[in-house]
Amino acid sequence: MTIRFDNSYSKLPERFYVKQAPVPVSRPALIRANRQLAELLGIDPDWLESEEGVEVIAGNRVPDGADPIATVYAGHQFGSWNPRLGDGRAILLGEVIGNDGERYDIQLKGSGLTPFSRQGDGRAPLGPVLREYIVSEAMAAFGIPTSRTLAAVTTGDPVFREARLDGGILARVAKSHIRIGTLQFFASVNDIDGLKLLLDHVIERHYPDAATSENPVATMFEQIMSRQAALVARWQGVGFIHGVMNTDNMLLSGETIDYGPCAFMDAFDSAAVYSSIDHGGRYAYRNQPAIAHWNLACLAQALLPFFADEEDAAVELAQAALERFPEMFQQEHFTILRAKLGLTTVDEGDEELAQDFLDLLERSRSDFTLAFRRLGELTVDTTEIEALFDFPESFAPWLESWRQRCAQETISDADRHRAMMSINPVFIPRNHLVEEAISQAYAGDFALFHRLNERLSMPFDFDAADAGLAIPPEPDQVVHQTFCGT
Ligand code: AMP
Ligand code: MG
Repeated sequence: MTIRFDNSYSKLPERFYVKQAPVPVSRPALIRANRQLAELLGIDPDWLESEEGVEVIAGNRVPDGADPIATVYAGHQFGSWNPRLGDGRAILLGEVIGNDGERYDIQLKGSGLTPFSRQGDGRAPLGPVLREYIVSEAMAAFGIPTSRTLAAVTTGDPVFREARLDGGILARVAKSHIRIGTLQFFASVNDIDGLKLLLDHVIERHYPDAATSENPVATMFEQIMSRQAALVARWQGVGFIHGVMNTDNMLLSGETIDYGPCAFMDAFDSAAVYSSIDHGGRYAYRNQPAIAHWNLACLAQALLPFFADEEDAAVELAQAALERFPEMFQQEHFTILRAKLGLTTVDEGDEELAQDFLDLLERSRSDFTLAFRRLGELTVDTTEIEALFDFPESFAPWLESWRQRCAQETISDADRHRAMMSINPVFIPRNHLVEEAISQAYAGDFALFHRLNERLSMPFDFDAADAGLAIPPEPDQVVHQTFCGT
């Protein structure tokens, strides 16, 4: 046996999904396999790279033990309700228990038509597959909860978008693919039994300690909020803009999913938006916490019957819980900012100090990533990236206040430096590099794609040989828009 499946979602009643095998492709070829992740999942990495492994990822061979399904969900897209979405171009092959004891979904994305494809073709162009590979694995290397990429293949079949493009398939791994929109679907069709089954499944799988609490659903909701708060705070901390925070793209597990039009900021701009379809800036960087809150309100709405028997009491409980979110987020946000600034204790002036730094970054349009990195260097007077970035004169008074604040702590400079180097990455998937890797790959050259993956697996370790991958784009290299590419 090559993959030890242990499926649970496909054992839920048939109205949760449609049994659907992936649709075979013409000439599958491996782009890249994630050998480390394969090992975590108990999959032989050599097998994954073999002809048979590639056929499985491409959907040309359904492995023993798989129970392929396309799941149903709904969701609010850019604020508008869509009653039926579902896996339109993805197939859940099944679940495995990793070496860490965790349960993981293995899903193929771009694997052909399903009953949920609507007007779509069920396929993915190569570009978005490569983008998701690079960015999801970089997020994992940052230590941010995320879906992962097990492997990517080309299909040998074209897909037609704004042009004729090579097709690709990505094998995605997540603790589950259950979304806010999955619960919304069952709530919206008044399937209370379905909702109850799904909640039991989610609690057992992701929030087991909520099961024994007095009000398991309310406890689970509280924990989902706290994971979302922590997740969005982590995104803000690396300048990540998700781009499409629809309720069907928010996992109940608290992992990042759906790397469509996402991007990392170069120069700090709190209003940054990259997605070509986000005209109103709904999902701009600075709106992400409020949108997470909005999405959680949708979730609370779907869960209402389970908060309490009486409707008034349920609404009151849900509202009280939701009102805690902004504070939860602020806590997480400043915890991360304090760590990024190298502070290990809490002082009442810290939030202002952090905000002043962000304001200075924004006014000087400084590079978000390199500014924090350079700050870390100043703790021990190293100059590794000084040539790539140094603070403009306007930072001098702030730097003095920051030094004074650091001096109040007992931690040694060397320890502060180490801590800052392990939270402030020097390499991020810069847009212009990701776009360059994609355009080279369309021309048949995957070297930059592989190099970015390798470099970004160690985003905290500077290597002068790769300095070119750390620097912000030249004005003519700046990428202003990203596309869903669906
Ligand atoms: P996304 O924008 O990727 O979150 O997708 C939103 C919805 O559209 C989901 O139900 C997807 O399955 C579906 N979808 C996106 N792209 C395609 C496609 N090429 N073919 C079929 N369905 C798609
Ligand atoms: Mg989606």
